[in-house]
Amino acid sequence: MLDSEAVTTIVRLGQSGWGAKRIARTLGIARNTVRRYLAAGGPVPYRQPQRSSVLDGHAAWLRERFLQHRGNCDVVRQQLSRELGIETSLCTVERACRGFLAEREVARRDTRRIQMGMKLARFPCMRTLEGFDFEAQPSIDPGQIRDLATGRWVGHGQALLLLGPPGVGKTHLAVALWREAVDRGYTVLFSSAAALMAGLTKAHADGRLEEKLLQLSKPKLLIIDELGYLPLEPAAAHLFFQLVSRRYERASVLITSNRPVGEWGQVFGDAVAATAILDRLLHHSQVITIRGDSCRLRDKRRSGLLQKAAAPTPITSEN
Ligand code: ADP
Ligand code: MG
Repeated sequence: MLDSEAVTTIVRLGQSGWGAKRIARTLGIARNTVRRYLAAGGPVPYRQPQRSSVLDGHAAWLRERFLQHRGNCDVVRQQLSRELGIETSLCTVERACRGFLAEREVARRDTRRIQMGMKLARFPCMRTLEGFDFEAQPSIDPGQIRDLATGRWVGHGQALLLLGPPGVGKTHLAVALWREAVDRGYTVLFSSAAALMAGLTKAHADGRLEEKLLQLSKPKLLIIDELGYLPLEPAAAHLFFQLVSRRYERASVLITSNRPVGEWGQVFGDAVAATAILDRLLHHSQVITIRGDSCRLRDKRRSGLLQKAAAPTPITSEN
């Protein structure tokens, strides 16, 4: 690079009508260099000459392997040798993969968030929307579920009730929507209704109800699975009302239940509390009522374990 004095001289001479050739000869500077400074009208930033690399033309392959092997360049280097017959140093691989680091960081954060969410959710089983057979469940509008998968309802603090008999896919959908919400960066807490109620009752007895309500108010989405399978104490209904009130219009609740809302008075053992709970839950909400046959029973019937007429009672206890 030329010093600033030489650059100023070149530019000044150029402005007074000297040609590049004459300036170059007079100052003893390469003609192309003079041309470059004349074109720029001043100092030009230093550009590192592009070095060709044995990895040129393999960017897509490198990116895929780099992300697949979680940024481990040494493994990528070994695969280069094995699969493409390219022998190169670790430094060369690291240099070629530098551009993929940001992408790797994003992928890592997403994975960590989902893993943490799975722990928080004490996930009963991995279920996805891709794995949900909409044809087998015509009472569900796939468009509505796709819209729910965008997570907008969570952003708006709405409630979602998934109602229907056992085995029709309520928990499956709840878990799949939980995953979609986590993917979109929302904090989610997943709990069975029984565990949630037990936690609230215990906190109340220990004089820590406020603390517990605060903890349960934090996640942007609270999934309460299987409300109604076990009858609740009237005291639990009041605790549940407090929880719903805390979250009302601020954060979303997803509840799955085998009982229609008209029967929640019996579920909570207190018609007044149930009305107050439903008043808040239903204000900004979507209610999806799933009808049809239990998927579990259908599978059992298909395998000949069960006659069609002999359906419900014994298997509902699995839920
Ligand atoms: P529910 O919560 O309504 O009692 P689940 O969601 O637990 O029912 O469903 C019972 C089983 O049947 C689960 O393994 C679930 O993945 C499966 N299942 C139910 N409905 C469907 C469906 N439409 N497509 C794929 N799997 C389904
Ligand atoms: Mg269920």
